[in-house]
Amino acid sequence: MIHKPQQAAKVLGNKPMSLIITSPLRGWATTLDSVPDPVFAQRMMGDGVAIQPLGDTVVAPFDGEVVTLHDAGHAISLRSAEGAEILIHVGLDTVMLKGEGFTPLVAIGDTVSRGDPLIRFDLDAVALAATSLITPVIVTNAETFAISRRTVDCAIGACEALMTLVPVQAETRRRSDDGTVVEQAVTLSLPHGIHARPAARIGETARAFEAEVHLLNGDKRGDARSTVALLALGTGFGDEVVVQARGGDAEAALAAIVALLATDMGEGAPAATSITTPVPASAGQVLRAGQIGGVIASPGLAMGPAARLQQAEIAVARDGSGPAGERAALLAARGDVRGQIAKRADSADGSVAAVMHAHLALIDDPELLAGAEKRIAEGRSAGFAWRGAVHDQVDAIRATGNAHLIERIDDLIDIERQLLSTLTNTPLGSNAIPAGAIVVAEDLLPSQLVTLAAAKPAGICLARGGPTSHVAILCAGMGLPALVAVGDALDAVADGAPLLLDAEMGHLTVAPSPADSEAFTARLAKRDARREAARAAARDACQTGDGTRIEIFANIGTVEDALLAAAQGAEGSGLVRSEFLFLDRETAPSEDEQQAAYQGIANALLGKPVIIRLLDIGGDKPAAYIPIAQEENPALGQRGIRVALARPDLLETQLRAILRVEPVGQCKIMIPMVASIDELRQVRALVDRLRGEMGIATPIEVGVMVETPAAAMTADLLAAEADFLSIGTNDLTQYVLAMDRGNPAVAAGVDAMHPAVLRMIGETCRLATARGRWVGVCGGLASDPAALPILVGLGVTELSAVPGFVAEAKQIVRGLTLIEARAHAELALQCKSAAEIRALARAFEETRR
Ligand code: PEP
Ligand code: MG
Repeated sequence: MIHKPQQAAKVLGNKPMSLIITSPLRGWATTLDSVPDPVFAQRMMGDGVAIQPLGDTVVAPFDGEVVTLHDAGHAISLRSAEGAEILIHVGLDTVMLKGEGFTPLVAIGDTVSRGDPLIRFDLDAVALAATSLITPVIVTNAETFAISRRTVDCAIGACEALMTLVPVQAETRRRSDDGTVVEQAVTLSLPHGIHARPAARIGETARAFEAEVHLLNGDKRGDARSTVALLALGTGFGDEVVVQARGGDAEAALAAIVALLATDMGEGAPAATSITTPVPASAGQVLRAGQIGGVIASPGLAMGPAARLQQAEIAVARDGSGPAGERAALLAARGDVRGQIAKRADSADGSVAAVMHAHLALIDDPELLAGAEKRIAEGRSAGFAWRGAVHDQVDAIRATGNAHLIERIDDLIDIERQLLSTLTNTPLGSNAIPAGAIVVAEDLLPSQLVTLAAAKPAGICLARGGPTSHVAILCAGMGLPALVAVGDALDAVADGAPLLLDAEMGHLTVAPSPADSEAFTARLAKRDARREAARAAARDACQTGDGTRIEIFANIGTVEDALLAAAQGAEGSGLVRSEFLFLDRETAPSEDEQQAAYQGIANALLGKPVIIRLLDIGGDKPAAYIPIAQEENPALGQRGIRVALARPDLLETQLRAILRVEPVGQCKIMIPMVASIDELRQVRALVDRLRGEMGIATPIEVGVMVETPAAAMTADLLAAEADFLSIGTNDLTQYVLAMDRGNPAVAAGVDAMHPAVLRMIGETCRLATARGRWVGVCGGLASDPAALPILVGLGVTELSAVPGFVAEAKQIVRGLTLIEARAHAELALQCKSAAEIRALARAFEETRR
């Protein structure tokens, strides 16, 4: 019977309702592919997960009703209140046992709650008698529910999250009167709507079918195979889109795309708010005459003459010389450009290569090609046709009003210009940029930046652009200071005008006074001298001028980071972001894999302390195989240690891997996102149990991260039981200021130098040191030169910075005395804003020339 649930199409706010299916058994979760029975492996009964049982009791996977219970007691199906139907089939060919070894504990029609025992079975007897014990857990009404997340290839406990289901709203499926088109509406679970990555997956899925598939959002319609067309739909989380399929395998294509769209495609939870216009970083700072504020896209300082980038205008003839010739010309030009981009991608590093790959997809985008072909067929030239096709898409994306998508327009314009340059044989005409100049432009395309970087400019200043554009990402990767979104005021900056680019404070000074230039030169010189001295003394221990020992550690994720950190003189690692091992993969890393990774890091740091942060998943760091229900506020939901404690299998595996690293004790354990002492106690108890089991007598230090105001305010309670405290200023800032660290709309305000955050840090140090525990900082503030004197003055004695800043951090600390750092910190705590504190920090730095 097909049950049409009453509530399947119900939405909660504008969010599709999802349902967590918890595991009915303790055991090993695996995919249906590994079930040696085609009925299950080929999903004839539906999709799901299989469990190799280690426990002998099947429990209810949700609150619901028992719908069927086989006489042989080996199979049971249940229906949830939301209408999801699940079949649990214990073992294969177990029907033959005719009930032998199975004890049903419920009856058909019973109402059960999640975790209620349903069937008990004799594990050993059934294992001996059955073909296999493997137990498929199947969603039998796939026409109404799709699996958006599932747990596979890992140990799982009964009642732990196994699958997340979302309604697919099959009742909205329709067929056109002539029968050629099928369509279905689906509510998007994608947290950021269809942006580039989901668009690529949709395109890939659509290409597997012959049918033409289109997506409709309101009156906008896009080919499912075209990235740009899907972007131009301007969709967001919770939008209802209609999928239309036409052609031979239309039904199958529709089902596949709808099933994909019903999931979150591993993108995690939605952002708390939509992106709006970025706020200039200069908000809150007082700009003087001659200064223009902008958004910091890549931090740093630069001084030099303005070099206005001349954009060569590429003229194209309107009419072509015949469709055949124009088509051939376009094809050849696309081939050439594809070759040039592929070459750049091959010789580039991570971020540049990623951008180049995005461009490669655009050169073959079917929507662009169709737009160009239409114009060529109407008699237009190849260049005119390509430009028209690109601009159709640019207009469509711009019309969405979605800032995140609009930043991707640059990539389209880039592809337009590269192709037209090749087609018309017009050099792309970046005028020569003198080395050491500050490039000033309306906007910059990624490929232009890659080309002009060879001229070694000192900095970049753009009237437009956004802090998350590809150009911003590339500048940061190249260490090139950059300001973006400076606005029309930049038009008045003449070519050759002397400029001071302050991408630490977020402003540009045009034609500075001699005094300003002198002060800026001094800052630059000081920075250079400090870097030079720092490099020379990188390996020396670090203490303040009056003898207070301050340890300078590094934040790392990989063995490569550890090697770099050691070369920079790091005295250990204050934060190993172990989640890097867990992200961007289908299954959790095994104990052996983790042990090898941690041992590699410990070896690279030559016996120095290594503080491994336990898995910090959730919020902005989703892992597909650790299902977390859709959350209204992911940053306030299942994050950090809350996830780890809910998945003791993962936590135990990680702890065992850490405890196996030699020499024992080199690795310390740090708990992320602690909000209460109970979390510390649970982890400590687990560590002690495992030490007992593994025969480890050496005590293992367990510390907590201070990332929540709760942890900061109870630092004394935590310090009574923790071995150390380390402040994660990135999260502490977002929670203290109630500003999402990943939301560009509030990015300018998310400054850890806010007096509220510094007061929290001061209080943490006061409370913890009174209990004799050391306090470190491993958040971004430990890599901010302006903040170090304040942190030391507040009582922080360990700083864990990005590896590239370690030597410089040591040098800054050596130039301080504790007495003056304390006085400076006192003043900082009395300031009224982050801007005031930054001005104070600048003044403090000036006094130290
Ligand atoms: C922090 O929150 O400051 C921190 C170090 O953790 P992450 O940035 O990895 O969340
Ligand atoms: Mg954090």
